[in-house]
Amino acid sequence: MRQRIDYWDPDIETSPLAKLKELQEERLQTLVRTTYQKVPFYRKKLDQAKVKPEDVNTLTDITKLPLTRYVEDFVATPIQQKLAVQWESVTEIMTTSGTISGFTQPVAMTARDVEEGFSLMARTMRMAGVKSDDIVQFLLPLDMLIPAVKRLGCKVMPSMAGRMRLDDQIKLAKLMKSSVAFAMPSYMMGFVQRARELDIDLRNGTNLRLAVLGGEPLAAPIRKRIEEETGIDFYDLYGFAEVMGVGGECIQREGLHIWADHYIPEVIDPDTLQPLEPGIEGELVITTLTKEAMPLIRYRTGDMTKLLAPEPCPCGRTHPKIGHVRGRVYDVIRIQGLKLLPSDVEDIIVGIPGLGGEYRIIIDKKDEMDVLKIKAEHKSGVSNLMLLQEEVKAAFKQTISLRCQIWSAPNSDTTC
Ligand SMILES: [Zn+2]
Repeated sequence: MRQRIDYWDPDIETSPLAKLKELQEERLQTLVRTTYQKVPFYRKKLDQAKVKPEDVNTLTDITKLPLTRYVEDFVATPIQQKLAVQWESVTEIMTTSGTISGFTQPVAMTARDVEEGFSLMARTMRMAGVKSDDIVQFLLPLDMLIPAVKRLGCKVMPSMAGRMRLDDQIKLAKLMKSSVAFAMPSYMMGFVQRARELDIDLRNGTNLRLAVLGGEPLAAPIRKRIEEETGIDFYDLYGFAEVMGVGGECIQREGLHIWADHYIPEVIDPDTLQPLEPGIEGELVITTLTKEAMPLIRYRTGDMTKLLAPEPCPCGRTHPKIGHVRGRVYDVIRIQGLKLLPSDVEDIIVGIPGLGGEYRIIIDKKDEMDVLKIKAEHKSGVSNLMLLQEEVKAAFKQTISLRCQIWSAPNSDTTC
């Protein structure tokens, strides 16, 4: 059913493209000038690249600027050398997950950074369809975002309301008639699975209608299957610890708008570091245009996605779109001259009805040649394993042009 389009900030969300570009260029020039003057880390980076602030005037000039790498630049640089403000102006400190660096990294914010981050989160949640009469249940421990969601006028249940216990969260959703779940995709999958086990019908026994998700990829076929089963529409948002509210899906659900008044998205080839055209998958790079405490220039996010072709979106928003994040750069599997992400494999596996969904990727070296092997669980009722293996083999060949070895495996394993 088509919903009425509801904007949080209509003027900026539907701004004419020329006006948006003018604003971006103005903010980019200010960003480069400010960081060169105030941030020792960026002054050094720009000097090394032999770029002066006056060299950056238009959006296309952004490629003159050096990339900011996570481990080698962001992690390796002490916080004081990344700050564009005096330490006294910092009011909040967030941290990155530390998955890659082994330790969480501090991210400093001023009061204005927090205020703008909340405003962008509210804009993103409204774009996903969250309204003032909703009850938003936090299923992830990001309660610092509660003030942002409350700006929409809705009721909010913090993650601690369910004591971080899955069964309690599900029962609370039913009891309190929550209408929106805010979660990581994997947690939402566990939520749906456990509700099934508890015999709680999410479609008819609860008021849940939206799930706003972020933080990790979710295979499209799984998303579709769960949406059909539960009647809950899934909306993806994009952001990471270093920045809040970068963008998200509108009701068209064909890509994520990136808020261009605050961020410039690029996608680069992670090997050559060259910018890629829309439609070609690579690593997302984000430049923050308005961050006060810790601005980032051409920051390599490590997330694999693509820019979408710049076409008008039926929702009326003019901000550029990216595809769903499909994995991390370090997850890329290089095999037989191809680059694969685990989500490529997952998309195929979950699309085959005879398979159970669990799988393992094995890279085997045979006669100096890498061979991709997938060990996948099949459903218990499958009687003809050979036929299933042929189906798996054909799906891999057709979808990713990769040949697999097929043989029968005992018990509940199909290996290809
Ligand atoms: Zn849209």
